Amino acid sequence: MSRSATVLRLSLAALAVTTAPATAVAQGNVLPTPVIAVDSADPVSVLVSRLDLARYKATIKGLTNFGDRRQGTKRNRDAVDWIEAQLRSYGCTNVERLTYEYNPPAPTPRPAGAMAGAMAGAMAGAAAGGAGQQRPAGPPVSAGGGRARGVRTRTGVNSDSLRQPDARLRALNAEPSVPGERQEVYCTKVGSTRPDEMYIIGGHMDGIGWGEAANDDASGSAIVMELARIFSDPAVQTDRSIRFVLWNNEETGLNGARAYVEQRAKLQGIEEPKGSGKFPEPKWLGMIQHDMMMFDHGMPNADGTMRKEQRPEADVNIEFQSSSKMAKQSAELAWFLHGANAKYATDYPAQVGPHMTNTDSGPFQDLIAAISLRENERGTQVGSGWDPHWHQPTDLFSTFGDADFKLGLNAAQTTLAGVAKLVNAVLRK
Ligand SMILES: [Zn+2]
Repeated sequence: MSRSATVLRLSLAALAVTTAPATAVAQGNVLPTPVIAVDSADPVSVLVSRLDLARYKATIKGLTNFGDRRQGTKRNRDAVDWIEAQLRSYGCTNVERLTYEYNPPAPTPRPAGAMAGAMAGAMAGAAAGGAGQQRPAGPPVSAGGGRARGVRTRTGVNSDSLRQPDARLRALNAEPSVPGERQEVYCTKVGSTRPDEMYIIGGHMDGIGWGEAANDDASGSAIVMELARIFSDPAVQTDRSIRFVLWNNEETGLNGARAYVEQRAKLQGIEEPKGSGKFPEPKWLGMIQHDMMMFDHGMPNADGTMRKEQRPEADVNIEFQSSSKMAKQSAELAWFLHGANAKYATDYPAQVGPHMTNTDSGPFQDLIAAISLRENERGTQVGSGWDPHWHQPTDLFSTFGDADFKLGLNAAQTTLAGVAKLVNAVLRK
């Protein structure tokens, strides 16, 4: 599917106005060529042009050098250190860490034979991405009210290290997770006129499955890091602040994001020290999560196989949670990014859906506008097995082709353009 020629008018009044859904309009029967030239008079266009596929891929590659980055291991801590060094190298200011404890209860032994049923039924909102919390087999119901339709294939978390055929990677991922102290890193673009208010942009740097967690979620983490790089250019000036967060412990139940909310919600908008103009925790205006950004190969075939190539009509799924307390505000934020995608993304359109679930935007959804960007709908599509690499040893950098990486890049273009509008980004001469 080609992109529509329709250009949505984005309101500079940001969230005050809800952008209407785009309608694809073909000019006669000839669709326009999707070329988007850089408009040097439009700072958003210039900023979007600073994203490129090679850099995005290099950042994903850098993250996959730490294997699956499972929380509670040295390879996870090393990845946090590497991310922090990258953020500093971009000139991102106020690089900080949040420290918390993760002490899960010991797993309860499962009676023999129960696993197969649990695997068959594990889907959609079965658990917050955590192993060992799978829902028993049952009717095809997914989180957030969606009902799965069409071909479904088995999903589950690979928990067998020997299923990784690459001996080097198997060794890299060998160390088991131990309970205890955890850290996650973030940095902040400080707003010039409203440093006391911010948008939060997130992805999770931890992974599971004995692969490289390339798609889940180096692909989303690299978006956060690339946006941190671009906004950290001192020539870029924003009215409001933007915080770039690389969550840890997503896969165990969003524990890193929950720790952030627990520790920092109460600090919002407080000037510290008084009279300094500094706000360690600016007031939260919205949270935008990126989790699994690359693989949209469609519904599985009837025999359970998947097509090899990214489907040409692939899209970026922007989801809000319709049952949350901030559903209306979240929907407005989702449609605002949809409009940004229509104007600035180069290859793939966006689609808005109401069933955001199972990712780090969850702990924010009753407090502020919160959305997640995905390769597919989390509940009905990822949950029905549309990504056969999800939590598997095959979630490797080498599994994905440029058409896949480009979907992630289009998500980066979408969030970058949307947030640049929301914070009124300009380029100083
Ligand atoms: Zn994930």
